[in-house]
Amino acid sequence: MADLSQNKAVKLVKHAAANGYAVCATCCYNVEGILASVRAAEAKRAPLIIQLFPWAIEFAGGILIHAAREAADNASVPVALHMDHAQTPDIVKRAAGYEKGLDGIMVDMSHYDDNLEKTQELVKYCNQRGIVTEAEPGRIDGGEDGVADIAGLEAILTTPEQAEDFVATGINWLAPAFGNVHGNYGPQGPQLDYARLKRIHAKVGDRVNLVLHGAGKEWFQEKLLKECIDCGIAKVNINDAFNNSFIDIMKNEAGKTPITGLLVNATNAMQEDIEQYIEWMGSAGMADKM
Ligand SMILES: [Zn+2]
Repeated sequence: MADLSQNKAVKLVKHAAANGYAVCATCCYNVEGILASVRAAEAKRAPLIIQLFPWAIEFAGGILIHAAREAADNASVPVALHMDHAQTPDIVKRAAGYEKGLDGIMVDMSHYDDNLEKTQELVKYCNQRGIVTEAEPGRIDGGEDGVADIAGLEAILTTPEQAEDFVATGINWLAPAFGNVHGNYGPQGPQLDYARLKRIHAKVGDRVNLVLHGAGKEWFQEKLLKECIDCGIAKVNINDAFNNSFIDIMKNEAGKTPITGLLVNATNAMQEDIEQYIEWMGSAGMADKM
């Protein structure tokens, strides 16, 4: 068994949990997103996690993984690399097979009836290769671009007992479902069950760190992020919150700005968004305190 205590991703999130902030985890689709993430982290002296979806492998083989790995390793602040929502045993194993690849993989078997059993087997598989894991007991509603559509399946809120069962599989991070959803919250906004989140944290927070999925920019700004962090969240995934800026620049400037200018402007816009989140999550300056 590899020594997971030296795993880069685990160290970052542990430090966040111990110091009352959250690590910004950016879901990247392209090299521009990877560059924007590292540049934002360096500008703010913040630790950060670059995330890719299995889509990255299906689309580009190992190319995006290796680009992200190189960006992470060359950064002047601690940056780790994680795969978000790996939703079949096959893709987990493929992702884990890249040498000098991922630090972590989200083993998301939440759409299978035997979520726990599948997770258990795959956690072991990943850990043997020095890769830490994240899992989702219960089911977070909604979908993200690049993640398999599981529409029609109902959200299931995580219970502290379920959380305990998953911790027993050896996961390092747990993504609870406590009213958070991927995508649209509707006019009411998020109806977060903080009491549930606190109970989960009280039960398993001594062994795993908690991850927030579904932190869309419309609702999740400084106040809500702080509230989640106060309840034990130590890693926050963001996606549309910065990728939409890439789309906006392409939409507004294509045909007027040459391609180099488009890519530079889109990267800068994404960097600005990520820097904002780093501030909101309290991780600015933390790279120098690790
Ligand atoms: Zn997610």
